[in-house]
Amino acid sequence: MKEKLEEIKTKGLERIENIKNITELEQVRKDLTGKKSELSKVLKSMSDLSSDEKKSIGMLTTEIKTSFIEKLKLKEEELIASLSVLEEPIDLTIPGNKVNEGALHPITQMRNDLNDAFLSLGFEVYSEDDISSEKYAFDNLNFAKDHPARQSMDTYWLEGTEDKEGAERLCLRPHLTGGSVRYLQKHGAPARFVYPGGAYRNETTDARHERAFFQYEALIVDKDISFSSGIVLIQTILEKVFGRKINTRMREGFFPFTEPGYEIDMECLVCGGKGCKVCNHNGWIEVMPGGVIHPNVLKSAGLNPDEWTGFYINIGLDRLVMMRYGVDDVRLFHSADLRFLKQFK
Ligand SMILES: [Zn+2]
Repeated sequence: MKEKLEEIKTKGLERIENIKNITELEQVRKDLTGKKSELSKVLKSMSDLSSDEKKSIGMLTTEIKTSFIEKLKLKEEELIASLSVLEEPIDLTIPGNKVNEGALHPITQMRNDLNDAFLSLGFEVYSEDDISSEKYAFDNLNFAKDHPARQSMDTYWLEGTEDKEGAERLCLRPHLTGGSVRYLQKHGAPARFVYPGGAYRNETTDARHERAFFQYEALIVDKDISFSSGIVLIQTILEKVFGRKINTRMREGFFPFTEPGYEIDMECLVCGGKGCKVCNHNGWIEVMPGGVIHPNVLKSAGLNPDEWTGFYINIGLDRLVMMRYGVDDVRLFHSADLRFLKQFK
């Protein structure tokens, strides 16, 4: 019987030595030390033996089982160590990798600030698609049939719709104003809302003009709005955005969708009113065209011009950002040059 046990021991240790993975290890553990193992069978077959023999066989069996358990434990540690991908121990004192944090684009920051300013005055923020149509970009807004802005020189018309008219002739929106009529048609009056977004013009780029740019427009429609309350609104918004009083002046302006129209200029903050490249050397910069909504536009929106009135404020987002940071070339904002943009974090 001792020989048999020695054989069990040799074979068992050999099996343990050849184990390749944890699954196999669990199986071998069960086979060698479990209730149905050969060692257990030996113990069960000892009833015929003398008490001395029982004692010595019992001791030997226990000794073999212990050696199996110890060997299995060592093998298990060896297998677990080989699973680790870390070749070297971890040094927790080494500084971590630097995380590159993004930041909002300065134009987005300005748009958010304006949204906050208008929301605090009870306005709603509305948005529309970048693709518009002749109907919404021009017809509804009282643009004459032969208005030069309708020509392809100024507007990007979409291929395949050039021969169509009105709502079927599609373009990239040359301004946001078309969205105001769509909003009024849907929600009616009274209304006060802003509608920021991109606008597109087919023009040569220079320090103050871009082919694609951001606009920010607001419209109030109500009964008996006085012109002076519009001026107060504009000054309030500028003060909220710049955090101080801003000198403004108002000039007559002409836009087909207004009657009367105006231009709001603010004193150039880049040069402090002395004159520079940004303000075309006259100390003022045009930041907000606008005006009283034209009766024909109210009619397109399904509203009675005898009953309702209102006014537009169109804010040049790019220009306000130029003023806020003293940047003298609008093209930098669209350059995607991180050396430039990182300064606004
Ligand atoms: Zn200037």
